[in-house]
Amino acid sequence: MSTATPPTTESDVVVIGAGPAGLTAAYTLAKAGKKVTVIEARDRVGGRTWNGHILDAEGGKHFIEIGGQWISPDQTRLMALTEELDLETFPRYREGNSIYVSPDGTRHTYTGDRLPVTDHTLAEMEKLIGIMDELAAEVGAETPWAAAKAEELDTIAFRTWLHQHSDDQEAIDNVSIYVASGMLTKPSYAFSTLQAVLMAASAGSFSNLVDEDFILDRRVVGGMQHVSVTLAEKIRELGGKIILDSPVRQIDWHEADATTVDEINTVADVRNGVADNGAAGSVTVHAEGATIHAKNAVLAVPPNLYNRISFVPPMPRDQHVAHQHISMGLVIKVHAVYETRFWREDGLSGTAFGGGRLVQEIYDNTNYGADGTEGEDAYGTLVGFVSDLYAEEMWALPEAERKERILSAMADYLGPKTMEPVAFYLSDMAAEEWTRGAYATSYDLGGLHRWGHLQNQPTGPIHYACSDIAAEGYQHVDGAVRQGEAAALAILEVQGTAREEQDA
Ligand SMILES: Cc1cc2nc3c(=O)[nH]c(=O)nc-3n(C[C@H](O)[C@H](O)[C@H](O)COP(=O)(O)OP(=O)(O)OC[C@H]3O[C@@H](n4cnc5c(N)ncnc54)[C@H](O)[C@@H]3O)c2cc1C
Repeated sequence: MSTATPPTTESDVVVIGAGPAGLTAAYTLAKAGKKVTVIEARDRVGGRTWNGHILDAEGGKHFIEIGGQWISPDQTRLMALTEELDLETFPRYREGNSIYVSPDGTRHTYTGDRLPVTDHTLAEMEKLIGIMDELAAEVGAETPWAAAKAEELDTIAFRTWLHQHSDDQEAIDNVSIYVASGMLTKPSYAFSTLQAVLMAASAGSFSNLVDEDFILDRRVVGGMQHVSVTLAEKIRELGGKIILDSPVRQIDWHEADATTVDEINTVADVRNGVADNGAAGSVTVHAEGATIHAKNAVLAVPPNLYNRISFVPPMPRDQHVAHQHISMGLVIKVHAVYETRFWREDGLSGTAFGGGRLVQEIYDNTNYGADGTEGEDAYGTLVGFVSDLYAEEMWALPEAERKERILSAMADYLGPKTMEPVAFYLSDMAAEEWTRGAYATSYDLGGLHRWGHLQNQPTGPIHYACSDIAAEGYQHVDGAVRQGEAAALAILEVQGTAREEQDA
């Protein structure tokens, strides 16, 4: 970090993090006439949404979405934003048969949404899904910590809960996949049933999570990062500033409280909290190469990264503790590009499942209109996911062995041609300093009912926004958009719009 103090930029609001949450906040504020500065650690906008290219042996470039990409029909805020930004979407390919590999390794072909399992397993799955649907409706996504059953559900690991309600391991694995390996990307013993219920409620119901035609419905032409890139353009057009390559290291956010000083604690701090949470105040953000002073800040970074920033004075006791109970999951997104969409020639949709297997789900991820091209890409792309414990195991292997193991696991579903991609890439968001995992964060066992109520409560002039602390759209880009908008509207409420300021 340079020792020279950079000149201070004056803004109404400083937004930390140029992911979809931060950029939506900045866009909403800039549209209301606010002077806004966005400060971003990376050399690009988009955060966990990220367009990339991989090369084949001939040097041909193939477009991939390294991070978030799918939109579901309930994600109405994101859909509305794509329309406002004039971005097109396209549906995931899903014609033909799907594949299910059962625990004994048998490969089954099926159509529709009924997995080819025994009647007993199906009945057990339906029972578990039904109970989760009821709990999701009862608890809701807005304030799960306040639900009557919050403590009861938050102190039992999801795995234990599943075993309490069923003795059918195949049913448990298949239901578990939709929340544990498939969403929170942690082993089901590592998070609570309340956290699983929140995940379901945030998507409308557990049944929605189970329905891949619903949850993985559409993609943005040109990639999901295009939403952030377009938002950034609009913010600049409206006079907003976006500073890249500038990690925020320190936020001066409040006067210390003199009453905290006693004979032992001789330095004043704000250990007991502050009285004016959310109000406009004075906040100075120190980043590499930039200093910004504003009346409010939006901290739009994932909660596992809050403690990468020094808060001056240190945050109150509650926040210090709460922020330690939130951590990222771990998943590898696998991209395999093929000369042909061979699975379609075999009458397959490319959709494949196997609860408890190394690669637990696969989808046809062939691009459409990528890099400004017309229509569907001639090359076929498959995307697969390797979650939590398997992801750890894979990262520990030498590269060639890792590729072989993952492709073999994919070939169990879609046949030997799966072993011959022309290009192959593994998204490694855990190694990204400004993310440190994938897809998102969740509380440890018991953390949600104890600390969840604090996650959206502003701390002095600092408002929070991130998909990881969203209700609807939790862990998804839609949740980021909702969060960004909510933080901006809360700030407009306390600062007034530019027009209201002029009138005053
Ligand atoms: C592999 C993968 C697949 C996913 N698939 C989907 C999907 O299909 N559909 C979906 O809806 N969602 C998906 N997601 C989740 C989705 O990408 C996130 O929910 C969304 O990007 C969150 O947006 P955000 O703005 O809240 O946070 P982020 O996107 O994480 O943005 C936060 C920003 O803050 C910056 N930052 C962090 N610390 C600092 C600092 N100290 N100073 C300055 N800047 C800082 C980061 O660099 C980043 O740009 C996926 C995520 C991953 C990783």
